[in-house]
Amino acid sequence: MTRPPVVLITGSSRGIGAATALYFAKQGYDVCINYKSDLASAQLVASKVKSLGVRAQVIKADVSKEADVLALFSQIDKEFGQLDVLVNNAGILKPQMPLLDMNAERINEVLTTNITSAFLCSREAVKRMGNGGSIVNVSSAAAKTGSPNEYIDYAASKGAIDTLTVGLAKEVASKGIRVNSVRPGLIYTDMHSDGGDKNRVDRLKNKLPLGRGDKPEEVAAAIYFLASSDAAFTTGSFIDVAGGL
Ligand code: NAP
Repeated sequence: MTRPPVVLITGSSRGIGAATALYFAKQGYDVCINYKSDLASAQLVASKVKSLGVRAQVIKADVSKEADVLALFSQIDKEFGQLDVLVNNAGILKPQMPLLDMNAERINEVLTTNITSAFLCSREAVKRMGNGGSIVNVSSAAAKTGSPNEYIDYAASKGAIDTLTVGLAKEVASKGIRVNSVRPGLIYTDMHSDGGDKNRVDRLKNKLPLGRGDKPEEVAAAIYFLASSDAAFTTGSFIDVAGGL
C-alpha cells in the first residue's frame, strides 16, 4: 500500500501555518505541526487535521536552534519515516521602529528566527528527500518594499529567504528537489499584534491595488500549488500573494 505524503510546516500553531496544515490535510497529506510555545493552539490544529482522516503529529521545536531542528527531524523519521514537503513558514517580527532605535539583540532574534531556521530545516529536509521533494519558503512582500520605519530587519530577513530560494533551487535541482517561495502581504493574522499594530491590515489595505487584505487560506493555496505536481517544472520561483503590491 502506498503511504500518504508527509508535510512539515514550521510554525503551524496559528495563522498562515495553521491554514496550510489544514489545506495539505484536505489534499490527503499527513501533517507534522511544529510550534515554539503555544501547545494548546498546535493541538487544536492537530485535531482539525485528524478530523479530515489523515495523521497529525505535534512537535515542539524552536527552529532557530540547531539542536531543536535535529530533534524535530529525528522525531519525523521515527513517526513518519519519510518527508515529501517542507514549508519554511515560522517567522516573527518585533515592534515597529526605525533602524536608529534597533539594538543587536532584537536584530539577531529576527534574523535567526526568520533566516537560520529556514537554512537548518532545508538542510535536514534535503538529506531526507532522496526520491525528490519540495520546499516552499514563506517570504514576504516586505522583501521588496523594505518596510521603512516599521521593521527593516524583518524585511531584510525576507530578502535573505528570497536569495536562499534562488540558490538552493539551483543546488538541489539535480536531486529532484524543487524550492520555491510565496511572498504574502497584508494577511489577517495575529502577527501584526506582535508588531504593536493590531489593525495594520485594515489601516493599509486601501494602499494595495486590490484594496483589501487577505485570508491565510489564500496563501495556503499558493503554497500548496508550488509544492504540488502541478508546479513540477517550477523551481526558484515566487508567487506574490499581496494584492498587487
Ligand atoms: P503568526 O500568526 O505570528 O504565526 C507565527 C507562527 O510561527 C506561530 O505558529 C509560532 O508558534 C511560530 N513560531 C514563531 N517562532 C518560532 C520558532 N522559533 N520556532 C518554531 N515556530 C515558531 O504569523 P503569520 O502571520 O501566520 O506568518 C507566517 C509566515 O508568513 C511568517 O514567516 C511571516 O513572516 C509570513 N508573512 C506574514 C504576513 C502577514 O501579513 N501575516 C505577510 C507576509 C509574510 P508559537 O505561537 O507556538 O510560538
